Amino acid sequence: MADFDLAVIGGGINGAGIARDAAGRGLRVVLVEQNDLASGTSSASSKLIHGGLRYLEHGEFRLVRAALAEREVLLRAAPHLIRPLRFVLPLNPQRRSALLLRLGLLLYDWIGRRKILPGTHALDLVTDPAGHPLRATFRRAFEYSDCFADDARLVVLNAMDAAERGASIRTRTRCVRAERRDVWHLVLNARGRRDEVTARILVNAAGAWVETVAETVLRQQTARPRLRLDKGSHIVVRRLYDHERAYILQTADRRVVFTIPFAGDFTLIGTTDASFAGDPATVTPTAAEIDYLCGVVNEYFRSSITAADAIWAFAGVRALYDDGARKPQDIGRDYALLLDERFGEAPLLSVYGGKITTHRRLAEDALDRLAHFFPQSRRWTAQNPLPGGDFPYDGIDALVAQTLQQWPFLGADHARRLAHAYGTRVRNVLGQAARLDDLGQRFGADLTAAEVRYLMQHEWAQHADDVLWRRSKLGLRVNAAQAAALADFMAKQFAAKASSA
Ligand SMILES: Cc1cc2nc3c(=O)[nH]c(=O)nc-3n(C[C@H](O)[C@H](O)[C@H](O)COP(=O)(O)OP(=O)(O)OC[C@H]3O[C@@H](n4cnc5c(N)ncnc54)[C@H](O)[C@@H]3O)c2cc1C
Repeated sequence: MADFDLAVIGGGINGAGIARDAAGRGLRVVLVEQNDLASGTSSASSKLIHGGLRYLEHGEFRLVRAALAEREVLLRAAPHLIRPLRFVLPLNPQRRSALLLRLGLLLYDWIGRRKILPGTHALDLVTDPAGHPLRATFRRAFEYSDCFADDARLVVLNAMDAAERGASIRTRTRCVRAERRDVWHLVLNARGRRDEVTARILVNAAGAWVETVAETVLRQQTARPRLRLDKGSHIVVRRLYDHERAYILQTADRRVVFTIPFAGDFTLIGTTDASFAGDPATVTPTAAEIDYLCGVVNEYFRSSITAADAIWAFAGVRALYDDGARKPQDIGRDYALLLDERFGEAPLLSVYGGKITTHRRLAEDALDRLAHFFPQSRRWTAQNPLPGGDFPYDGIDALVAQTLQQWPFLGADHARRLAHAYGTRVRNVLGQAARLDDLGQRFGADLTAAEVRYLMQHEWAQHADDVLWRRSKLGLRVNAAQAAALADFMAKQFAAKASSA
C-alpha cells in the first residue's frame, strides 16, 4: 500500500487548497514545498478577492461569475484575513465611456450573487471625501465592492487546516524526482536530507514551475499545453490618502492600476502586466515598471510620488493556461485541470493557472476530477471556516475589543493586528500573558518572542523572512538590526528543537 493517497507538489494557494480539501475528505495527504509556504506567486498577488472587473471586457463571464460568488464564501471562512473593500473608479472619458463602465458594473453586481457586500453607486468627487486626494479634473466616479485578503496567510491557513485534518505538510522539501509505477515514488530533498514517499495519485500544483516539474521531476514525455508566464509588479509607499477605500485607475494602455490601503500606514500600488521568460524564482520589478506605476498615480492624484518613495517592491509570475490569445492581458485567467490516467499506472493531475480568489473552487474541482478513485468523498469546504475564522463575517471589531479586554496591556493597534492575523486563535498566541513582558523578547514593531514561537510551532515559519514578509508584513516596520536579532532567535529555537528531536 502507498504511504499516501495524494501527494501534492507546491505549497502555494492551489496546492494548499487541494491538500486541505483532500484531507477533509479523509484522504492521506502529503504536500511538499521547496521553500516556504506561499514563497512563490501566492504572496506576490494584488491580494484581491474579486471577480476581476476588467476580465468582463475580455468576455470571461464564467470566470468572473464563479470568482464573484467566491468572495462571500471566503469572507465567511476567514473574516480575520479577508475584508470587504470599496473601490472608487474615477471616470476618465479618454479611457472608457461612463456608459460602458456603468453597464459593466451593473453586470458585475447582477452576476455577483451578493448578500453581504454593498452594490455599485455613483459618486460626486467634488463633494465626496474620495475626491479630495484626486486632481480636480476628476469629478465623477463609480464605487463598487470587492474584497482584500492577506494572500500569504490564506495559504498558511489552508495548510494548517490540512495538517489539523491529518495531512503531512513538508516545507523546504523539494520533490526532485517522481517515478510513475502502479503508485508514485517521490524522491524528496529536505535541506540536503533525502527521503522517499509513495502516493496513489500525484498533483502537480507547482504554479509557474508546473512545466519545469513536468519536465525535470516527472520527466513527462507527452506533449503538454503551453504555459504563458505573465509578470506583474507592485510597490508599497507611505499612505497616499487617509480613508479606507481603494482606487482603480484606468491607464492609457487600457489596463488598470489599483491603489489599496495596506498594513495600516501604507498604500499598495499595482500592477503592471508583461510577458515573462526565465526562472520565476528570480522575478523582480524593473525600474521602468516602478516608474510606470508612479506615473499612473501621478496622473490621478494631487500629490506625486517617485521611485524613491517605494518602501517595498515585489513582483510575481502568473502561470496562464495559453488559449492562443496574443497579448498577456488578453490571456484567460481561468484554470485548467489536466488529469492523466493510464491503465496500470498511477494518475497525475496537473494544475494550470487559477487565482487566489478561485482556489477553493479549484480544489473542489480537482477533488471532483479524482472522485472515481475516492468514491466516498464529498464537497465540504464552502461551509467550514479556516483556522481562527470561526466568528461572524462582520465580527472582527468585536474580536479586537475582546482581545483588548482579555489582554489589556496590548495597544489598540497591536490587538488589531493580532486579531486580524490569527482570528480566534489569538488566544493560542497570547496564552496566559498578563503583561507585555510575559510575551518575551521584542524584535521591533510589536513583534514578540511569543508570536514568533507560535509561528514556528504551528505555521512552519523557519526564517526571519517567513515571519516578516509572509506570516506578517512587519518587514515594512523593522530595521536591519531587528531583523538580524529575529533571525538569530529563530536559528537558536530551530537548533534547540532539532537537538531535542
Ligand atoms: C502580479 C499578480 C497579481 C495577482 N493578483 C491576484 C489577485 O489580486 N487576486 C487573485 O485572486 N489572484 C491574483 N493573482 C493570481 C494568483 O496570485 C495566482 O494564480 C496564485 O497565487 C497561483 O498559486 P499557485 O499555488 O498555483 O502557485 P504558487 O503560489 O507559485 O505556488 C507554487 C509552489 O510550488 C513550489 N514548487 C515548485 N517546484 C517544486 C518542487 N519541485 N518541489 C516542491 N515545491 C515546488 C514553488 O516553490 C511554489 O511555492 C495574481 C498573480 C500575479 C502574478
